[in-house]
Amino acid sequence: MSTPHTVTIEEIESLTPDVGRFVTTKPENFEFKPGQATEVSIPKDHWKDEKRPFTFSSLPEDPKLEFTIKIYPERDGVTDRLAELEVGEELEIGDPWGAITYQGPGVFIAGGAGVTPFLAILRDLHHRGELDGNRLIFSNDTESDIILAGELKRLLGDRALFLVTDEKSATYPTRRIDKELLAEQIDDFEQYFYVCGPPDMVEDVTTALRELGVEEERIVTEE
Ligand SMILES: Cc1cc2nc3c(=O)[nH]c(=O)nc-3n(C[C@H](O)[C@H](O)[C@H](O)COP(=O)(O)OP(=O)(O)OC[C@H]3O[C@@H](n4cnc5c(N)ncnc54)[C@H](O)[C@@H]3O)c2cc1C
Repeated sequence: MSTPHTVTIEEIESLTPDVGRFVTTKPENFEFKPGQATEVSIPKDHWKDEKRPFTFSSLPEDPKLEFTIKIYPERDGVTDRLAELEVGEELEIGDPWGAITYQGPGVFIAGGAGVTPFLAILRDLHHRGELDGNRLIFSNDTESDIILAGELKRLLGDRALFLVTDEKSATYPTRRIDKELLAEQIDDFEQYFYVCGPPDMVEDVTTALRELGVEEERIVTEE
């Protein structure tokens, strides 16, 4: 059973038209592994029972917590409500959980807000000087949807490949992440493959990876 902790929002910043960065206070002695998430709720009215998982995008040793959250205004759910909160308001979080943690060098394959566990892991590897040997393939609907493209390029250089699926872009290839793209981009199918994004994308990519000969234990996803 998860222990609730109350945290206060200290900063809110818009990263894309529908993704926000929320920085909060951090409970004392709160520990998590990069890639892990927690159940977040808004302790107000009936919203306090509506818990939704969000991944820490800050480093474990940072004095604050950071969440990178895609807002769904059409759903009348928690994220739409989060978009209305202001600095100084509170959130409730539980204990950390989640299966996506770093196992060793590999290819991080993300769709949209599915990049959040990889943000935490890649930032942590960079911080520890261990980013070499890792790559990112990051797919989004449009160029303007790409979360923190500048930071990811700085971290990974040409080891970050950005793709868009729903527009012709002058900057990035308009391609889906399918078996053909993976075969073109990757030589070594014995390394780790970390996959996170919308359920259909995770299903399609993991199927393609298996067909390319990747062993089950080398594929890391949130079950
Ligand atoms: C381990 C884990 C970590 C995650 N980390 C992050 C993160 O760091 N950042 C992030 O942005 N997201 C993250 N997510 C996803 C995030 O939890 C969801 O986006 C969030 O729960 C959506 O909450 P919501 O209340 O706004 O909408 P929901 O609870 O999804 O929906 C509210 C209502 O809207 C309706 N609805 C649901 N789906 C649809 C749809 N497709 N179209 C139309 N209506 C719909 C339903 O009536 C539903 O009851 C994570 C998920 C997991 C499992």
